[in-house]
Amino acid sequence: MSLISISEIFGPTIQGEGALIGTQTIFVRTGGCDYRCSWCDTGYAVLPKYEDDWQKMDAETVFAEIEKLSKQQAAWITLSGGNPAMQDLGPLIELGQAKGYQFSMETQGSIAKPWFALLDQLTLSPKPPSTGMSFKKRGLDRCLDACDSLENVSLKFVVADNKDLLWAKKIADQYSHLTCFIQPCNTSAKLEHNYNESDKSNEIPIDQQQQMLWLIDEVQQIDWNNARVLPQLHTWLWGDKTGV
Ligand code: SF4
Repeated sequence: MSLISISEIFGPTIQGEGALIGTQTIFVRTGGCDYRCSWCDTGYAVLPKYEDDWQKMDAETVFAEIEKLSKQQAAWITLSGGNPAMQDLGPLIELGQAKGYQFSMETQGSIAKPWFALLDQLTLSPKPPSTGMSFKKRGLDRCLDACDSLENVSLKFVVADNKDLLWAKKIADQYSHLTCFIQPCNTSAKLEHNYNESDKSNEIPIDQQQQMLWLIDEVQQIDWNNARVLPQLHTWLWGDKTGV
C-alpha cells in the first residue's frame, strides 16, 4: 500500500470555506503541491523546504489518528493540502467510509484521480491570475470526469481583485451546472511565510469585513446572481494560525 505524505492532522474544528462552511470536521492536510500560488497561506504544506516535517503514513495510521481525534464518532473528514490529489487517498476513504465517516476534498483541479469517484463532496478551486498560476481547463474537466456524480461537486474561487473576479465569472459561466462560491483572498498571506512556533499568529487581518463588502458589491455590479459569496471564515476567526 502506498504511503501518504501528511503535513498535519487536526480537529475537530469547523470547515471555514465552501459548501460545507460551518460543518464540524477533522482536517487531514497532505504535504506537497504542484502549484506555487503567490498568496498561498499553507506554504508549510507546499514548499520542499518543509518536506522533513511531513510524515509518510499508511492509510491505517492516518485513520487511527482520525478516530482518536473524533473519539470514534463518525464525522466529516476534510482532505486538504497542498494538493491532496497528488496522494493515493482511495484506501483511506474506503477505510473511513466503511465506518460511517464522510470525506470532503479541496483541490485546485490540476490532477485527476480515479478515487475522486469515492468522495462525498469535492470542491474544485481554480486559481485566479493574482496567484501567478495559469488555469488549464483540461485539468478541471478531467477532475469532473473522474467524479461519480456532480451533485456534490462545487467550484470555489478565492479572488484578490477585480481582474480575478472577472476571470472567475468567465470560468464559472462555462460550468453553470455547478454551484459556485466566491471568497475574498487572505491578502496577508504569503507563500514564503516562515512558519515556526512564534509565527503561529492568530492576528486577524483587519480588512476582512471590508473585503467581504467589496466582493458583495462587485458581484452585484457584474450581475453574477447565482454566485454564493462567503468569507474565509477560518481566517476571519483565527488569522494565519495553523492546526485550528
Ligand atoms: S494555494 Fe493551494 S494550490 Fe496554491 S500553492 Fe497553496 S496549496 Fe497549492
